[in-house]
Amino acid sequence: MDGPIQAIVVHGGAWSIPSEARAAHRAGCLAAAERGFGVLSAGGSALDAVVAAIELLEDDPTFDAGRGSVLSAEGRVQLDAGLMDGRTLHVGAVANVHRVAHPIRLARVVLERSGHHLLVGEGAEQFAIAQGLALVEPDSLVVDRERQRYADFLAGRIATEDDFGGHDTVGAVALDGDGQLAAGNSTGGVAFSLPGRVGDAPVPGVGYVADSRTGGVACTGWGEHILRVALATRALIALEGGADAGDAAREALGVLERSVQGRAGLIVLDRHGRVGLAHSTQCLAHAYRRTGMTEAVGGTEAATASSGPSRRPPR
Ligand code: ASP
Repeated sequence: MDGPIQAIVVHGGAWSIPSEARAAHRAGCLAAAERGFGVLSAGGSALDAVVAAIELLEDDPTFDAGRGSVLSAEGRVQLDAGLMDGRTLHVGAVANVHRVAHPIRLARVVLERSGHHLLVGEGAEQFAIAQGLALVEPDSLVVDRERQRYADFLAGRIATEDDFGGHDTVGAVALDGDGQLAAGNSTGGVAFSLPGRVGDAPVPGVGYVADSRTGGVACTGWGEHILRVALATRALIALEGGADAGDAAREALGVLERSVQGRAGLIVLDRHGRVGLAHSTQCLAHAYRRTGMTEAVGGTEAATASSGPSRRPPR
């Protein structure tokens, strides 16, 4: 007997994930997909599932989100997150926060209680305090791997664009039993960026989008490229035009490549729970689970072919 379809797909960043880090990326994504699917199975909303999955990834130091984030040129974490409710098209997002362990949780509070959509920096942190969310010491979010990477950067030991690493933004898209979709992202951004830099990840319609009439999308890659083509919206428009989830993701990547010579990874979930994955970077850490599957499946490369190494765009 057919019942409602529930589904979640998560990503843990694109680019060239070093081979020794791939198992951790895969495991983290699988755990997040299971967490999100568990929320959906228990009757939770798509928003609940996206937030639960992303919180798990923010806690996992493997990823460039929450604890484990890359460091800015100033040597501190600089966190962004955003969340969209496909039922209402309401958005909550925060950018440039330093003392928030779970930026996606704060993004949800912005969505539900602020009357605004995007809060940045000090204002966002003050709002967190006012709403009863505890702030943390920024150092508690810094892991030794990133301390070492930053020391290498200061010492001039990071020589090539690909040495920057840490392109491990996380995101999720979910469909709940009521047929509602939500999508979101959380990131520490790109390593050694200028203080105040904001990429695509917290920007609705760019790094993520959800519309329950069509589908949801979350993107990962260089924000400077993704911002210029509103990548998530490109995939949503393709879905609206009748493309299936995989083709919608590939069409968006085609626009990115043709328009700004950019590369990225996308996860797409349509309103029927069909998953689309595509990346033009070497890797895309991902996992998904939908009704009818006994467990989540995932990996660091989607079924689509990779088209070569990633490059940091010039400033
Ligand atoms: N898109 C993120 C940013 O530019 C980075 C990433 O996806 O890894 O901040």
